[in-house]
Amino acid sequence: MILRADHSDKSFWLATYGPYTPNPPLAGDVKVDVAIIGGGFTGLSTAYNLRCDNPAMTVAVLESEVIGYGASGRNGGFSMTLFGMEPAVTKALFGQQRMIEAHRYMERAVDYVDALVREHDLQSEYWFPGFLRVATTPAYARRIQHDLELLTSMGIGGIEWIDAERLRGEVDSQAFLGAWWEPRCGLLNPARHVRELERLAQQFGVTVYERTPVTQITRGARFTLKTPGGTVTADKIVLATNAYSHLIPELRAKQHPVFTHMVVTEPLTPAQLASIGWKNRQGVEDARNLVHYFRLTADNRLAMGGSGITLAYGRKMDCDLSPRFFADLERDVVRLFPGLAGVRFTHRWGGPVSVAAQMAPAIGCLGDARAVYSLGCQGHGVSLTHLNGRTLADLICERKTDLTDVWFVNRRVLPYPPEPLCFALSKAVLAYLEAEDWLRERRTRSEAVR
Ligand SMILES: Cc1cc2nc3c(=O)[nH]c(=O)nc-3n(C[C@H](O)[C@H](O)[C@H](O)COP(=O)(O)OP(=O)(O)OC[C@H]3O[C@@H](n4cnc5c(N)ncnc54)[C@H](O)[C@@H]3O)c2cc1C
Repeated sequence: MILRADHSDKSFWLATYGPYTPNPPLAGDVKVDVAIIGGGFTGLSTAYNLRCDNPAMTVAVLESEVIGYGASGRNGGFSMTLFGMEPAVTKALFGQQRMIEAHRYMERAVDYVDALVREHDLQSEYWFPGFLRVATTPAYARRIQHDLELLTSMGIGGIEWIDAERLRGEVDSQAFLGAWWEPRCGLLNPARHVRELERLAQQFGVTVYERTPVTQITRGARFTLKTPGGTVTADKIVLATNAYSHLIPELRAKQHPVFTHMVVTEPLTPAQLASIGWKNRQGVEDARNLVHYFRLTADNRLAMGGSGITLAYGRKMDCDLSPRFFADLERDVVRLFPGLAGVRFTHRWGGPVSVAAQMAPAIGCLGDARAVYSLGCQGHGVSLTHLNGRTLADLICERKTDLTDVWFVNRRVLPYPPEPLCFALSKAVLAYLEAEDWLRERRTRSEAVR
């Protein structure tokens, strides 16, 4: 890809959006009530909610590059209920009650995005087709069924197991043995959506500065944020920096970025579309630890992400491109859908997701209630970040609500060790996850599905 100053090379969605004219950078010194660092879904949702609640409050968003430069302009666009890694892992690490609470939060998050798009008529190429978590081996079928039984036993409904025959009536791949079917899932075009959120926030009176990296934060009676073009003085700040949070000294050890990668085909021909039979255009993931996620775009391309992840050593944030994982993904598209043999892939990209220890998100106050942060959304942050914006707005306004009471607000986040130990530990966890996938894929497909 050609590197472009507006970062449209960072994803298919950004490359096909436009033309886009960023807001000017900060030039001079300004004072605001709340400064938000980071112009992704989290920052913009927080900004919008703050102004909705407090029309007199001055709110500025400071984005180091352009709106949607981070994961928000590059993701798969699944607005879904999955939290952290998967329900069984959340239950094992945090207990049953917290797993239920997390799932309820995610259901609310998906509904929140849906309502926001509809209420403000956001032009996000959004539809609400539901979600299929497909099993591609008997071991994955058991894993999904176990998750489903767990949720059902806790009174969580709205998700069912569908068998191979019914599934192939929805998406036709010989590799699919059955699926988790969940109607509650939206799909959106992330670049369009994040810039629609920007438009909405600005319409509500938020000031957005792009190409405005915050290079230093000084805490006093007020906060002073240094940027190349001037300073911002703020009563309160929001660190909406997710996978970039380790670059902020106070958040350094709370999360680690890892990179996930995506590819997209050219628009499929009617014959190619007929061969995959994806008439209801659901979002699809498999049940691997190193998940594949795939969907159709509005112009009938097939986009697939996942397969492998790239660990970033130290502060490295330039691990977007992985020829190895791009090749794996392109092979996997054709392996799952042989009718697409010979299809051309037009865009390949990657982006950072934030992983906090224990694979769960974290929202919290930093030092005191005047500074709040959000991170650790993993690869399941599209819906989550929107509701987190609502939660962060409540925290900033020092309002106690059912959202601020949720267990991952002000949860204790185990710190990552410094390098090279951090990288070595991450490698070990990754090797474990890969080995589990290998074991689940080793078994033959003729094994009976319970
Ligand atoms: C390839 C990919 C696919 C994904 N697919 C899905 C999916 O289908 N469904 C799902 O639920 N989740 C998915 N995710 C995860 C999801 O995209 C993220 O959880 C979500 O977008 C995070 O939003 P955010 O606003 O918190 O962070 P970001 O969008 O990353 O925004 C953070 C922003 O902060 C800015 N910033 C950082 N430091 C500074 C600074 N010092 N000064 C100013 N600005 C700064 C960055 O430039 C960045 O724009 C995916 C992620 C990736 C990378």
